[in-house]
Amino acid sequence: TYTLGPKISNWDQERKIWLDQNPQFPNSVNGKSRILLVTGSPPNPCDNPIGDHYLLKSIKNKIDYCRLHEIEIVYNMAHLERELAGYWAKLPLIRRLMLSHPEVEWIWWMDSDALFTDMVFELPLSKYNDYNMIIHGYPDLLFNQKSWIAVNTGSFLFRNCQWSLDLLDAWAPMGPKGRIRDEAGKILTANLKGRPAFEADDQSALIYLMISQKDQWMDKVFLENSFYLHGYWAGLVDRYEEMIEKYHPGLGDERWPFVTHFVGCKPCGSYGDYPVERCLSSMERAFNFADNQVLKLYGFRHRGLLSPKIKRIRNETATPLEFVDQFDIRRPVHGSS
Ligand code: UDP
Ligand code: MN
Repeated sequence: TYTLGPKISNWDQERKIWLDQNPQFPNSVNGKSRILLVTGSPPNPCDNPIGDHYLLKSIKNKIDYCRLHEIEIVYNMAHLERELAGYWAKLPLIRRLMLSHPEVEWIWWMDSDALFTDMVFELPLSKYNDYNMIIHGYPDLLFNQKSWIAVNTGSFLFRNCQWSLDLLDAWAPMGPKGRIRDEAGKILTANLKGRPAFEADDQSALIYLMISQKDQWMDKVFLENSFYLHGYWAGLVDRYEEMIEKYHPGLGDERWPFVTHFVGCKPCGSYGDYPVERCLSSMERAFNFADNQVLKLYGFRHRGLLSPKIKRIRNETATPLEFVDQFDIRRPVHGSS
């Protein structure tokens, strides 16, 4: 079967030795585990040119979140393995980044069609001390219903360790484009509830692996559903005004979703599951909802959630340092609400 490269079996020891020998590259900074967020898009322009504009907004949104929270970021546009093009491209990429950045403790994959919508919320990392993968999902949907949407691979984290390399190896074999991916798609559709007939995708393959090899993997997988590590856009984007009225950033759950993911929209492609106008205006709203949280520090906000135009929310001052703590969203004691 297909493999992701030479078998590595002693990564934990090798990485520990490397970390000991390279104290200038520690795996935690200021007491926080080093996180590398990785996202990307296809090597060529979008079928629909407006899609490129939304890819730009999406990476700006991620740069903003990562700057605010001292997370490093990689944007990939290459296909590292020709056979793993498309949604499978994240697998060899995550593996490559783990091996090339031994100082990074967590690799966080995020789709190009997912936006941070809570710029204050931070991952509760200490909760995951005994886990190696964090993914949004529901145990009942996974193990009882065997649903093809039980977990979502649009936003998830892997610890940089041997277990994660092993999981990637176990996950990849359904990926190679052509006959293998097509045949695997039939197995997935036959076994997963609600799955339409199409070639094997990374999400279904992961779910199938979690169900069929539960004992081998699931004790190290944290199925997170106490906040929206992935949040399905359709139930969220029309409620932003209500959220602004009632709540404040930092909650991360249905009151103020951490991530809004435009599943089924395909703004860069040509055939999504939803009308393209609804997708684009919803993405615009999500982007501006998040951007308002960023602009607050600078004294501006968007005129409306659909408007790229901004307006001033306070007067200029000759003594800016008196107020800087109050408006920096990273200081919840002063700011927020
Ligand atoms: N992706 C990539 N290169 C590709 C195709 C996809 O980096 O050639 C990434 C992109 O970030 C995308 C994710 O993989 O959001 C998932 O792919 P999918 O086709 O499911 O796209 P989506 O529906 O998320 O836009
Ligand atoms: Mn997606």
